[in-house]
Amino acid sequence: MAKRVVADCRRFPSKKKCTLTIAGTEKEVLKVAVWHAVHDHGHKSSPALRKQIKSMLKKAR
Ligand SMILES: [Zn+2]
Repeated sequence: MAKRVVADCRRFPSKKKCTLTIAGTEKEVLKVAVWHAVHDHGHKSSPALRKQIKSMLKKAR
């Protein structure tokens, strides 16, 4: 079973004060978190953004 991780948008610098939490496998979370950052926060999709999001992922309990 793939390990589950969590991306907590509160840890992401933003003006929206977004409180979204995304949980799932790293692959799932990364995909949705990148989409969310681009569409809801206006970030540019780039390898750097993916890397930044990836660095924010925490292991889910
Ligand atoms: Zn957000």
